[in-house]
Amino acid sequence: MKYVRVFSILLIVNIIPAYASYESPTNEEKINFDQLLAQFQTVDAPKKDVSDVIGTFQKPMINTFSCNLHDTNNQIITIINTKLAKFDENTTNQDLVTGGSYTWHCSETMQNGKISLDCNNELRINPEIISNDTQVDPQLHNIENLVILYHELLHGQLMIDAIKSSSVWQQETCNLQPGENIDYSFADPDHKIINYLQTQFASALVDKAGGKMITKEISSDETNNGTFTIKVFSFNDYPTFENSSKITFRTNNISENSFFQVKNDVFLSGHLKDDTKLGIAWFYLFNNEKTQNMTNETMPIWIKQVAGQWSSGNVQDEYFYSAIDYLMKHNIISSNDEKIDISTVPHWLQKSAHLWFTGEIDDNTFVNSIQYMISSGIIH
Ligand SMILES: [Zn+2]
Repeated sequence: MKYVRVFSILLIVNIIPAYASYESPTNEEKINFDQLLAQFQTVDAPKKDVSDVIGTFQKPMINTFSCNLHDTNNQIITIINTKLAKFDENTTNQDLVTGGSYTWHCSETMQNGKISLDCNNELRINPEIISNDTQVDPQLHNIENLVILYHELLHGQLMIDAIKSSSVWQQETCNLQPGENIDYSFADPDHKIINYLQTQFASALVDKAGGKMITKEISSDETNNGTFTIKVFSFNDYPTFENSSKITFRTNNISENSFFQVKNDVFLSGHLKDDTKLGIAWFYLFNNEKTQNMTNETMPIWIKQVAGQWSSGNVQDEYFYSAIDYLMKHNIISSNDEKIDISTVPHWLQKSAHLWFTGEIDDNTFVNSIQYMISSGIIH
């Protein structure tokens, strides 16, 4: 019998924060960044060239172009620097865990038709994400760190591309009036380009590591007032991973998310935070030798009975919690906490317990549901 272990969920959502005042990075952040950057530059996976923005950490990048006769101004000089800054928790919003941020911060000087843009940009990387204190598999964790860095560097590079060669941006800037702000939209704050590039990069890295990444987009017309339950994939389509996989997933713009497996199909349910935008879920499948060797000899029948009783409301929550407690003490479920304290159990767990009791889902799947909730902090 094999267990499918489910690890914690982090929502990697990166934002361009409102200007935060500059603070020097900690030593740990500097070391993290240097190591990650060195690895990023040598990693063998197709990616967009981001060497311009990487160069701005070392020396200013200076770009000059002339406007044409019909423009308000006649010349634009841009000077771009980037420095690593201390990660600021205030840039994380709501319940999201932010991987990092890249902030464009240009001050404009206009004189005799000449515009100077002095850009002092900041990169922030969340040290808690980089240092692996999550339960994510180290291999996947490393991939995600590279993806976070790539993501943030793209916010820099895409804007640099515009400064260097977008006729739209150049013309807008040539016609800038005093008091007007330059157009930062080319840094892709909505991730229209970045999501795609990042997915491509991550997918190549996961493939190289012997895994599989599955991306699912959810649009508002697939939801009921934002709420949805959608089949994401079937293990039948990925025979290499069937029954032996570890699944990890990440989401963007989805709250209250959970996933569950019925037979070979994996479903995701949740709620679109902003239903004018797509929700994205990334699933990572990895085969894992270690977890394949786990057995469920220790799964006693009374646990299933308690779960069945609990799912139909015949026993108090406490009985069910003691069953979970047993699973943790016997390492069938792993948790950092010694004792669980459950205040709210999502309704789908009761459904899951019922399906398990009636034999529609197997032990693995049920154990996963609980593991998922513990790992993701829904119960702790
Ligand atoms: Zn971003």
